[in-house]
Amino acid sequence: MRTALFGGTFDPVHIGHLMMADEVLHRLSYERIRFVPAHVAPHKAQEPCAGPDDRLAMLRLATAEREEFVVDPWEIEHGEVSYTIRTLRHLLASGDITERPGLIIGEDLVDGFDRWREADEIERLADLVLVRRPGAGAPRFGRRHQLVDNVPIPISATGIRERVRKGLPYRYLVTAEVYGYIRHRRLYQPASADR
Ligand code: ATP
Repeated sequence: MRTALFGGTFDPVHIGHLMMADEVLHRLSYERIRFVPAHVAPHKAQEPCAGPDDRLAMLRLATAEREEFVVDPWEIEHGEVSYTIRTLRHLLASGDITERPGLIIGEDLVDGFDRWREADEIERLADLVLVRRPGAGAPRFGRRHQLVDNVPIPISATGIRERVRKGLPYRYLVTAEVYGYIRHRRLYQPASADR
């Protein structure tokens, strides 16, 4: 089964993620998108963020209706900092993925990619799939890759967390199930808020 890996913190998963995954399926010849939520999100420690179990639950809700979208809890179950190379090696060794995988990377990650652990090895083991990210300024990516001309959707999880905190509308930036979950669990908002 031709699979593209899609890592992220998904805090929360939003329609920008889902639309982009759908475009990768549609435009490239992948049969599965494997969402791999990271265990820790060190850069988000300063603001209200959701724990791994909530992020995983939201991802499962958001992808439940699509057979082609698979959620892989491996990084969350194995804790610590999530290195892509470790996950890739695990997946290849486990036999869960038998064909050479794709690895989806948003344009916002291009500049830092060379600092990822064993970046050369990642490029050797996977086909890099670059997706457009509004605001990232179309950076030049010096590694072999396929560029997906996905429709720009200027939504970020940071923006959604901020909207929840400020009481601004965000209902249609996530799926109905994720919206219900955020409200039910009172994620990203002061305990007294109810909107
Ligand atoms: P945050 O704002 O918290 O940093 P995020 O919205 O960027 O979160 P992540 O979970 O960090 O979401 O992103 C995972 C992957 O999804 C990254 O490769 C990122 O570039 C991509 N991505 C996120 N939002 C979009 C979007 N609106 N369009 C295209 N790609 C996106």
